[in-house]
Amino acid sequence: MSGIRTFSRLPYVSEIGGVEFDLAVLGIPFDGLVTFRPGARFGPDAIRHASALCRNYSQQLHVGVFERLRAIDVGDVDLDPFSYEDTFRSIEKRISELQHDGAAVVSLGGDHSVLLPILRATCAKHPNLTLVQFDAHTDTSDESASGQRYHHGTTIRRIIEEKLIRGGRIFQIGIRGFVESATYLDYARQAGIQVLDMQAFHDPRRQEAFVRMLRDAAGERPCYLSFDIDGIDPAFAPGTGTPVVGGLTSFEALDMMRSLAGLHFVGGDVVEVAPAYDNSEITALLGAAIALEIGGLIALGR
Ligand code: MN
Ligand code: MN
Repeated sequence: MSGIRTFSRLPYVSEIGGVEFDLAVLGIPFDGLVTFRPGARFGPDAIRHASALCRNYSQQLHVGVFERLRAIDVGDVDLDPFSYEDTFRSIEKRISELQHDGAAVVSLGGDHSVLLPILRATCAKHPNLTLVQFDAHTDTSDESASGQRYHHGTTIRRIIEEKLIRGGRIFQIGIRGFVESATYLDYARQAGIQVLDMQAFHDPRRQEAFVRMLRDAAGERPCYLSFDIDGIDPAFAPGTGTPVVGGLTSFEALDMMRSLAGLHFVGGDVVEVAPAYDNSEITALLGAAIALEIGGLIALGR
């Protein structure tokens, strides 16, 4: 337990030249594009702190994550809190470097806008990616009233527009709550995004059909898991910027993730953990558990 607090006490490696690894954990402490409460820039710190309790072997997935994967913590990406353009460029460059030899990256956010540069890099390396997104929100807004096209609520629309991933390969879990208008979901429907909202999640037949469709769409091809912590109910994850009641429990989310075992996951992230609103570090602890679970899926998918 000595030394600095890395993710799951992994070795800290800032210069990756000459280092062989299969999995890199990267912090992205950027929250410059949020619509409501800020603070997710402190997410990586809080998740790393809580992850001191993480262990290697999953009793549910039956895999020793860090036996299967040579894993390192590469610290945080260099970023400019005053420029999302520069920050996006840094993120894309860093993710590309880390994926260079086929390694997977698990990113700790940061707000959900960081998914766009992550996927710019990841889709260049892995075309035909399938995206699994846990979230209360579809993140398919267009632009803000002031014309801002890039923020944490527009990421999925930008990903589709940039042709990184087409809508039919995007699978969203945990969607719920009130939106601006009845037409809000039109874009997601037209784009063919598969949405398992909370009503459907609690209908075993619809949940099963969703998972089957996801498995059919992905096949043997690479998958990426993006976990917006607000997909979880605020009773279990209060430490986040845009909480929505009526969400997944911790167990439901982890169990759903485990049902995706065997898919070829090549990366993932946990975003929107904002420790200032947390209680007893429960959100950070869950963020660490989800990041480790993503590690398990990556280990099993290789
Ligand atoms: Mn969200
Ligand atoms: Mn989101």
